[in-house]
Amino acid sequence: MNFKTERTFVLIKPDGVRKGLVGEVIRRFEQRDLKIVALEMFQPTREQIDNHYPKDEAWIRRLGQKTLSTYEKYGIDATKELGTADDLAIGKMVRQWLIDFMVSAPLVRLVVEGIHAVDMVRKICGHTLPYLADMGTIRGDYSADSPAVANSEHRAVMNLVHASETATEAAHEISHWFGGREVIYSYQRLTD
Ligand code: ADP
Repeated sequence: MNFKTERTFVLIKPDGVRKGLVGEVIRRFEQRDLKIVALEMFQPTREQIDNHYPKDEAWIRRLGQKTLSTYEKYGIDATKELGTADDLAIGKMVRQWLIDFMVSAPLVRLVVEGIHAVDMVRKICGHTLPYLADMGTIRGDYSADSPAVANSEHRAVMNLVHASETATEAAHEISHWFGGREVIYSYQRLTD
């Protein structure tokens, strides 16, 4: 493993594109000495998004649990609001909303390279839930969305960007979104 040239995968989501934040997101990565080595705007299919997000029960339950813990914190009755309090059923619902959201506008896909790129990019993006994301992060500075609001409107949380969580996930996502295409470049920045 070479931590100096680690690669990670980023998607600028529909809300990031529609808020005109493509340049700002890229700027924040480049500002931290991360290198953009692949970049493209495209319209994904539902199938591509369905295959992008994990399908295992544990991941889906975790998604449902995020909603349930927000509901518990704010005293919202999950059964009244969503018709169930089961984490798996809610997770499945949220996953569908996520697919609807992700195909609602073009996305921008990127491969970002640099020192600890996976962790650096996650740090620059901030907490998954924008209302909890620190100021100074992309999600904290440009969104205030929360699951309580999103789920009451039967939609996914809009948090501007997706970024791989681990090096293994990054390798899988780079191959899913750029696999077989020679569009990942090698070059030196002037400061390299
Ligand atoms: P991350 O994108 O930070 O890795 P997750 O993998 O947990 O976060 O979730 C995937 C995406 O699902 C999030 O980026 C967000 O858009 C959406 N999401 C997460 N939790 C919820 C929730 N409770 N309700 C609606 N959407 C959610």
